[in-house]
Amino acid sequence: MQGKLRLGIMGGTFDPIHMGHLIMAEAVRDEFGLDRVLFIPAAHPPHKQGRWDLAGAEHRYRMTELAVRSNPYFDISDMELHRKEPSYSVVTIDRLRESYGQDAEFYFITGADAINELFTWYHAEELLEKCCFIAANRQGTELDMELLRSHFGELAEKRIHQLVTPAVEISSTDIRQRIHRGRSITYRVPAAVEEYIDKEGLYREPDDDEP
Ligand code: ATP
Ligand code: MG
Repeated sequence: MQGKLRLGIMGGTFDPIHMGHLIMAEAVRDEFGLDRVLFIPAAHPPHKQGRWDLAGAEHRYRMTELAVRSNPYFDISDMELHRKEPSYSVVTIDRLRESYGQDAEFYFITGADAINELFTWYHAEELLEKCCFIAANRQGTELDMELLRSHFGELAEKRIHQLVTPAVEISSTDIRQRIHRGRSITYRVPAAVEEYIDKEGLYREPDDDEP
């Protein structure tokens, strides 16, 4: 391969994956000239508790696979899916480094809402030394550079980039609630994912965090 591999990394629970994830990943890929974007469904997100894995890991993986297969730049990895211990991003990056080698450049793609809480992440500073972050604005959440600078200093400027993506006010939580209430999710998830959810009867039970 010529030059350095620029790899985008989309971590998430994808419970289920939706158009917000896909639009953001494609916008970042295009804007930052990434070679590929790797979707990595998480096994046990450290930030989520309770009945977080509503569809089950296998279902979440299959739906993500269906969602990414029409984009030649998108791939999926099961490297986190069956891990017993929480999938900390810094551990994920180390494992990706082992498979992709020293020259690869890693770009973590997340919503700005998640980045503003980066200082609460496990070994956040070490993580910033090892990869870049690209924060997509989401539901009016802007990147709080002042806050990030107060925690990470210069590293924040160097490693955290922002991208204004087309605003897509979709969340997995909302999709689960819509299904439970018998409302339409058409166009909010890829057609193949909607068919899969239907066929498997997913998300018909209410969420714990539903108001
Ligand atoms: P939930 O509602 O269950 O929390 P979610 O929609 O937030 O689900 P996650 O799997 O938690 O989806 O998100 C994975 C990543 O995608 C996170 O970095 C999150 O900020 C980002 N993300 C999710 N939805 C959007 C969206 N509509 N626009 C931009 N970023 C998004
Ligand atoms: Mg979320």
